[in-house]
Amino acid sequence: MQGVPAVWRRLPGSGSSGRLVPQAGLTTNDFGPIGNLMQVSVNQRLVELVTGDITRQEVDAIVNAANRRLAGGGGVDGAIHRAGGPAIMRETREKYPDGCPTGSAVLSGAGNLAARFIFHAVGPVWHDGESGEPQLLTTAYRRCLELAREQACRSIAFPAISTGVYGYPQPLAAQASLAEIIRFLLSLPGDESQPVVVTSSATTVQQPLGLTRMVLFAERDYDVFAEVLRGLVAA
Ligand code: ADP
Repeated sequence: MQGVPAVWRRLPGSGSSGRLVPQAGLTTNDFGPIGNLMQVSVNQRLVELVTGDITRQEVDAIVNAANRRLAGGGGVDGAIHRAGGPAIMRETREKYPDGCPTGSAVLSGAGNLAARFIFHAVGPVWHDGESGEPQLLTTAYRRCLELAREQACRSIAFPAISTGVYGYPQPLAAQASLAEIIRFLLSLPGDESQPVVVTSSATTVQQPLGLTRMVLFAERDYDVFAEVLRGLVAA
């Protein structure tokens, strides 16, 4: 059960690859089931942190933490291809035979998932932090946000790219990704209002990129991202 948020459990007898189902107490909002929730309003848009499963998000675009060959793997990638079905891999093989460079992202349909698109983002493998990792992680997020804007997506959900098998330290990944999301949202048309924590938000998500959601798989990952986001709001 390591790495699985407290609000999720595996179906009895289904083994470690069993389907995750929400436990009582899990809430559902318009964008799918979630556990914890932190909301920040910035430039008339929402940034949300939630605990949950990225494959269950009911948003326009779900981001995959892919590898350069777009070859499929474990973690988020495995979960998305399992839940989304073979059409996704068929499409990426056909459209992107050379894969996708680190620090960028490419788009496909979402197969069986409740989204319009999957953005396959390739984050950096963590070495020592001196090998361009922050820039590459930042540009991977930026490319996804650009794709969302190009495709007129109102909502997008990200996993914590590079923080699993790729070994990027969580607090540093949270800093790079959340700072880039806020910077990007501030560059869009709006009232330029700075990030502020909101509890029950009247902010509309009807406009392009009205909702950017970070989906953290584990409670402790959520805590790390929430602390970093509070710091960015206060700064
Ligand atoms: P990377 O290879 O980029 O490090 P991983 O898929 O190994 O990508 O992990 C990225 C992050 O996604 C990790 O924090 C991992 O715990 C988390 N994660 C794994 N499965 C899911 C899922 N179904 N939904 C959301 N996050 C997930």
